[in-house]
Amino acid sequence: MKINIVGAGPGGLYFALLMKKQDPARLITIFEQNPPDATYGWGIVLSDRALSFLQSADASSYADLMASLELWHDQILVLRGERVAVHGATFSGMPRLAMLQILQKHCAAAGVEMRFGARIADVQPLTDCDLLVGADGVNSVVRRAFEEHFQPTLEKRNNWYAWYGTHQTFDGLSLLFRDSPAGPFVGHAYRHSKGDGTFVCECEDSTFQASGFAQRSEEECRRFCENVFRRELGGHSLLSNKSVWSNYTRVTNRHWHYNNVVLLGDALRTVHFSIGSGTRTALEDAIALHSALAAHREIGKALPEFERVRRPQTEELLKLAYRSILWYEQFGEKMRLAPIAFAYDYMVRGGRLDEEAIRLRDPQFVAAYEHYKASHP
Ligand SMILES: Cc1cc2nc3c(=O)[nH]c(=O)nc-3n(C[C@H](O)[C@H](O)[C@H](O)COP(=O)(O)OP(=O)(O)OC[C@H]3O[C@@H](n4cnc5c(N)ncnc54)[C@H](O)[C@@H]3O)c2cc1C
Repeated sequence: MKINIVGAGPGGLYFALLMKKQDPARLITIFEQNPPDATYGWGIVLSDRALSFLQSADASSYADLMASLELWHDQILVLRGERVAVHGATFSGMPRLAMLQILQKHCAAAGVEMRFGARIADVQPLTDCDLLVGADGVNSVVRRAFEEHFQPTLEKRNNWYAWYGTHQTFDGLSLLFRDSPAGPFVGHAYRHSKGDGTFVCECEDSTFQASGFAQRSEEECRRFCENVFRRELGGHSLLSNKSVWSNYTRVTNRHWHYNNVVLLGDALRTVHFSIGSGTRTALEDAIALHSALAAHREIGKALPEFERVRRPQTEELLKLAYRSILWYEQFGEKMRLAPIAFAYDYMVRGGRLDEEAIRLRDPQFVAAYEHYKASHP
């Protein structure tokens, strides 16, 4: 069996690894535009189950990934300098590059051929195989090549973001809300290794326009944000890794496969970064596609099976992610709330947690919120 994969992100690498380990005779090639030591962004958060779901899929890569995880239990919101902590959930994070390099190492050991520096412009020659996988992210060239069949929807949202790093480390998963003369900003900040943090800076379109970011260079934007979050950064810089300001693109596809071509991960549908689940979703796609191929030898049966099983599994998550996008698109307005009410509003934004569920995690937080509500009817 010959499999071509475009994109060596978490989804493409993990799928290649599982398929090759299951049957070393398979010819599996990944085409990746970047070199092996380059990636975009900094760290990633893995919410809820972190990586435990990987243990049964491949124990040895799981053990290596676990060794690189930073764990924390608090969500911290800072509004007008006031800090509200919500305890009781476990999050973890790691450098995105570390994750990719661990998966690359395991792919190499299994015998997957990885062609780095191989940017695919024309997909057609790669279709000469049993299975072509588009694991090439939000701007997928595979999806574009067959778009009349996949029928994707690409929706650019209003808010703007840039993905920075910093040597400032943070206590937990921190959301730093700060007003500026140009308008409100939020920093999504967390430690992803012992001495490094991730800092995703986000703002609404009105703030983006008032900041003049469209006319500023990457370096000027970086310094502007550094200045907005001077206090939270505690004298540390914001670090750029091609950190350009962009709008989040919400991707969905009407069809997930066409003939012997299938999409997974961000190429298939994006999951907003505010819920920390895009990477996990791409990895779960890889597991589900591998399982469908294990159950059905014929590609024509395996790909519909992948979609049949996987689509309903992700629907709830996508609804949650969408509600979270909407919340962030109004965060400036919500910043008028008292910090405790603001934090509560944030916690229930996805519709998955209600007061009782939050009480189970952190009774003190809910008691403080109830006290506030009683005194501010
Ligand atoms: C600001 C921000 C913060 C995020 N934070 C988190 C987080 O905290 N937690 C989390 O779980 N997720 C987060 N995500 C989402 C996460 O990055 C993605 O969901 C995840 O990387 C998807 O994996 P993937 O393998 O599908 O695609 P990607 O990781 O995007 O990998 C696609 C690969 O394909 C390659 N490629 C693209 N086009 C071509 C081509 N033409 N030829 C060859 N190669 C190509 C790319 O170079 C890339 O290596 C964040 C995203 C953003 C934008």
